[in-house]
Amino acid sequence: MRRRLIAANWKLNGTGAFAAEYAAELVPALEGLDPAVEVAVMPPAILLPALRESLNESSGRRVMVGVQDVSAWEAGAYTGEVAASMVADQHGSFAIIGHSERRQYWSESDGRINAKVLQALSAGLDPILCVGETEAEREAGDTEAVVARQIREALADVPESDWRHVCVAYEPVWAIGTGKSATAEQAQAVHAHIRGVLGELDPAATETPVIYGGSVKPETAGELFAQPDIDGGLIGGASLNAADFAAICRAG
Ligand code: PEP
Repeated sequence: MRRRLIAANWKLNGTGAFAAEYAAELVPALEGLDPAVEVAVMPPAILLPALRESLNESSGRRVMVGVQDVSAWEAGAYTGEVAASMVADQHGSFAIIGHSERRQYWSESDGRINAKVLQALSAGLDPILCVGETEAEREAGDTEAVVARQIREALADVPESDWRHVCVAYEPVWAIGTGKSATAEQAQAVHAHIRGVLGELDPAATETPVIYGGSVKPETAGELFAQPDIDGGLIGGASLNAADFAAICRAG
């Protein structure tokens, strides 16, 4: 059975007070949710300890925490970076890696993303590798080639025993923050392709969860998550509202 994961990406939003209110609203709203569905929230790194403490104070289902990026380096003279081992030290469980906003605004290459994935795994975090095509790449018919390249390069040298910690998020760039979600059929087709690419990389990767991200809302989550190769979601804008995020988790 593949893992099912619903993850929140707060992006550059939030405060300590927001984290406390969010946790107090989210945890009770998840009561009765299938325990097999993993739920994780990725605030800005500085808010991770406050959010984790607030989630622990709210008795109820376990909600994990993580970050939106990690350094490609373990330690040293890299001003402003946060190492994967520091996230693990603060009881983070996940790291989003290779988000399209980082690829676009910080020019992150597949090679750099690969170094971050390997750092996350060696620190004991579960990386959520984001892949996806731009609108121009989709129109040119290059979607499958683009995501295959991103996966092969970013997941090179993953040790066989670490595949169970890897998650892939298919996030078409044209659907992120635009309100323009892929249809369930479009997403399913790319997810099936991704599953094939993962299987070619390593037989151990066939069980890797592949989640969908791109303008998911409570109203659209059910149909997307019902697709055979969609194992959950990575939620941006809608995750900032705890009630909406809980509703999306229920669709998982
Ligand atoms: C994201 O940032 O990963 C994302 C999917 O954003 P949104 O849900 O806002 O499109």
